[in-house]
Amino acid sequence: MNLLLLVGTKGKAKGAYHQIVEKVDNISFNKSGLFPEKILEFNETWTKNMSPEDRTYFKNLTKGHYPKAVVITCSDSRIPLDLVTGTEPGTLFVHRNVCNQVSLTDKSSVSVLQYSVNSLNVEDIIIVGHSHCGGIDAVLSGDELEEPIGEWLKEIKKLYIANRKMIDSLPTHREQNLALVELNIQRVVNIVNQLDIVKNARALGKPIKVYGWVYHLGSAELHNLNIPSSN
Ligand SMILES: [Zn+2]
Repeated sequence: MNLLLLVGTKGKAKGAYHQIVEKVDNISFNKSGLFPEKILEFNETWTKNMSPEDRTYFKNLTKGHYPKAVVITCSDSRIPLDLVTGTEPGTLFVHRNVCNQVSLTDKSSVSVLQYSVNSLNVEDIIIVGHSHCGGIDAVLSGDELEEPIGEWLKEIKKLYIANRKMIDSLPTHREQNLALVELNIQRVVNIVNQLDIVKNARALGKPIKVYGWVYHLGSAELHNLNIPSSN
């Protein structure tokens, strides 16, 4: 059963994905019935029945990885990144947080970029926001948010306030959400372009490019915002 290999194959990705979902949902409950137990049962059954080719495939992954890009995206559970990009394990170095942010005060996201640029020699950095983003909705609501999420979203809140007239004039909530999603992607791309990690790598001649993409949940389409790479 070449499930993961199929996930990495564009033409068959959807079928493979649904196969996996059905398999997890169809596993009978032998233990406590908790969802994490169900996942472990699925994994146990799946790895036991794995083909020799897939065993070799996974074994080869232990030799190292040479990802082609680093992706910073939202933690939202509806973004199946490998599936919608047709990429296999080892291709994307991924960091996820609420609203796909990079901040100088956030050691986690900056460390991901430092390691991927300096040690993994990744040259393409892709910031992926998405439509219907719950974090963006929280900002649009205007509600006072509890800590620490309030602090985490404060720069997006400032962005909303600065662009409120334009955003609030949009006819639907969905469009307002998408407008702030796109502004936030632009903001994060600009931050990444100004990081010492990126500037120093460029000074050494590495052609670091920073992209801003939007993932549309309802169609699985990725759109490039065509943000200039080194502004
Ligand atoms: Zn989100």
